[in-house]
Amino acid sequence: MSKAFDAMKAQEEQLLCRTYARYPLAIVRGKGARLWDVNGKEYVDLLAGIAVTALGHCNDEVCAALVEQAQGLWHVSNLFYQEPQVELARLLLSTTHHGKAFFCNSGAEANEAAIKLARRYMRKVAQRDAWEIISLDGCFHGRTLATLAATGRENLSDGFTPLPEGFRHVPSENLAALEAAITPATAAVLVEVVQGEGGVVPLSGDWLRQVEALCRQRGVLFICDEVQAGFCRSGKFWAFQNYGLTPDIISTAKSLANGLPMGAMLATNEVAQGFALGSHATTFGGGALVSAVAAKVVEIMLRDKLAQRAEELGGRLKERLCAMQARLPNKIREVRGLGLMLGIELAIPGRPVWMELLERGYICNLSHDVTLRLLPPLTIDEDDLTAFAATLEDILRTDSGI
Ligand SMILES: *Cc1c(COP(=O)(O)O)cnc(C)c1O
Repeated sequence: MSKAFDAMKAQEEQLLCRTYARYPLAIVRGKGARLWDVNGKEYVDLLAGIAVTALGHCNDEVCAALVEQAQGLWHVSNLFYQEPQVELARLLLSTTHHGKAFFCNSGAEANEAAIKLARRYMRKVAQRDAWEIISLDGCFHGRTLATLAATGRENLSDGFTPLPEGFRHVPSENLAALEAAITPATAAVLVEVVQGEGGVVPLSGDWLRQVEALCRQRGVLFICDEVQAGFCRSGKFWAFQNYGLTPDIISTAKSLANGLPMGAMLATNEVAQGFALGSHATTFGGGALVSAVAAKVVEIMLRDKLAQRAEELGGRLKERLCAMQARLPNKIREVRGLGLMLGIELAIPGRPVWMELLERGYICNLSHDVTLRLLPPLTIDEDDLTAFAATLEDILRTDSGI
């Protein structure tokens, strides 16, 4: 490591809250699927800021939209009508069966809005005193107190209790457990179609369809958290569309503004009646600047058919990785995922492999110490993916202490 890096690291440790176990890397520049560190070393970015910069770093068209809007209007608050917000809602809702959007600033906030809407819809529209949210073991829905309660991982809530009440967890792929957990107090079932932070765990389409049918039968709302798998990454615009689901509410964020902080909750017209004037709000949500950028992002995703691209490139990469798994069954346990959201679960400790990939110029995420998680920009060249697979195989075949 260089002196410049060491100095920055020391300052960070002194000045910032000790919440992040950071990678040993300081990034200074990005373009497309490339990143450069403070020493000028180049990397292929297979993480995209955790599924955020789906159109690549400093995308020219997105930059142009940002600059144009920045010279016109940044922020006036939601007390005013703002054209970019309406244009974004129109584009976003054209991708789904939902009828109304609420804009906010993060994935956790989008889930907060979804939870609040579900509860208020039950009380005010369905006229039932139902408030409980059921989510799944292994899920991740955010770090605010309510979304931590929905997440339900004890290690994440350690020291932060009491968490808000009204959350319950069931194992995934177990319909009987869910049936037993739904009571008259249940407002909604909340799921990720592909559990991202859980280690890239896709839930089965059959089971998800049964969950949705059960929700309909018991008068419970069905919510999909699309924060990570949404925006074309799964091979469809929304991950729920892989299985013909029609969730009442979805929460979204990460890729929405390609790196500017933004989230959105989308609901059917029926369920959106749960909110009334003044019942939910945010100062920054859907401001002109982020909305203009997000509208450009969605426009490009649709124009360039990035869902189809993710399906094709992701499908071929997955095939390649599965073939590698067949050659190296004692090194790779499983390859999972949809589209360009892939997990490679290793049969050996992951950290040395992940470190060696970094050394050779490939950035990905290591989940639960064994799963390499790939969330590349959807615009990445296929050659980069092929070269990554070859490098990984080389690392796994070389016995350099791995
Ligand atoms: C990242 C993530 C969140 C939380 O989003 P933040 O913007 O970090 O609040 C929620 N749900 C899922 C599925 C996520 O991947």
